[in-house]
Amino acid sequence: MFDNHTHSQYSCDIPQGEGNTIRELCISAIEKGLEGIAITDHYDIDGMLDGHYPMLDSDSIAREVMEAKEEFKGKLKVLHGIELAQANQYPIEATEKANSQPYDIILGSLHTVKGMYDFGTTDLAKMTKNEYVSIWDRYLSDMIDVIKWGNFDVLTHITYPKRYYLIKGIPDDFPDIKNKGREYFEPILKAVIDKGFTLECNTSGLRQKIGECLPNEDLFRFYYELGGRDVSIGSDAHFERHLGANFKEATEMLKNVGFKYLAKFESRKKDFYKI
Ligand SMILES: [Zn+2]
Ligand SMILES: [Zn+2]
Repeated sequence: MFDNHTHSQYSCDIPQGEGNTIRELCISAIEKGLEGIAITDHYDIDGMLDGHYPMLDSDSIAREVMEAKEEFKGKLKVLHGIELAQANQYPIEATEKANSQPYDIILGSLHTVKGMYDFGTTDLAKMTKNEYVSIWDRYLSDMIDVIKWGNFDVLTHITYPKRYYLIKGIPDDFPDIKNKGREYFEPILKAVIDKGFTLECNTSGLRQKIGECLPNEDLFRFYYELGGRDVSIGSDAHFERHLGANFKEATEMLKNVGFKYLAKFESRKKDFYKI
């Protein structure tokens, strides 16, 4: 299988000295029996262009990925990717970034809404109900804008705020993805299908408080009912130990829904393999 969403020590959310080199990730991926991994370090364009986060060292990543492609040829497909987040906030610069390297795969991502930085680093617990309801609504409409921007391959972790709403103590019943997920995500899933993007099954939730893939089984079922067949799997590993984590469980869930194939990418060309 291909793990289409992984992070090396270059991702700015990994404390210095705690992450893994690209080479270490590759060695671990081979040990875990993966066929390929995409290195998709964070490029949160709002925080980076505003000076809130250090700039991503894209040249060093490109060099190390190219070296790893050579070194592990025949043993592991090493794919050059990027997790490009908040493209809706800087669409022109985001397109320049997407075209700046010969990427194999680009993840279209959204970690926050305009006026805030990543939910993971924001004190959400201090928000009033009106604020967190409004942020959720803005998150969904910003995602439509990311899709309209469109210079990506895979739409990632579409239920991302829920992960942090739970961690930061916002009541469990908001957003009510279990009962209202279809209502929240119908325009997003239809746009993904219409425009030929791939929907990510992000398994990180299975090792976190949310306890389910992002998105969950019911949303994959809804996507399938709407005609969606195009799914990518990613662990969102920030450390080698999480590469390919919970893929067995997640693929069983996807197969139960009806999916038969998963997407893989090279030079931004999509192909499918059977699960
Ligand atoms: Zn992300
Ligand atoms: Zn990620």
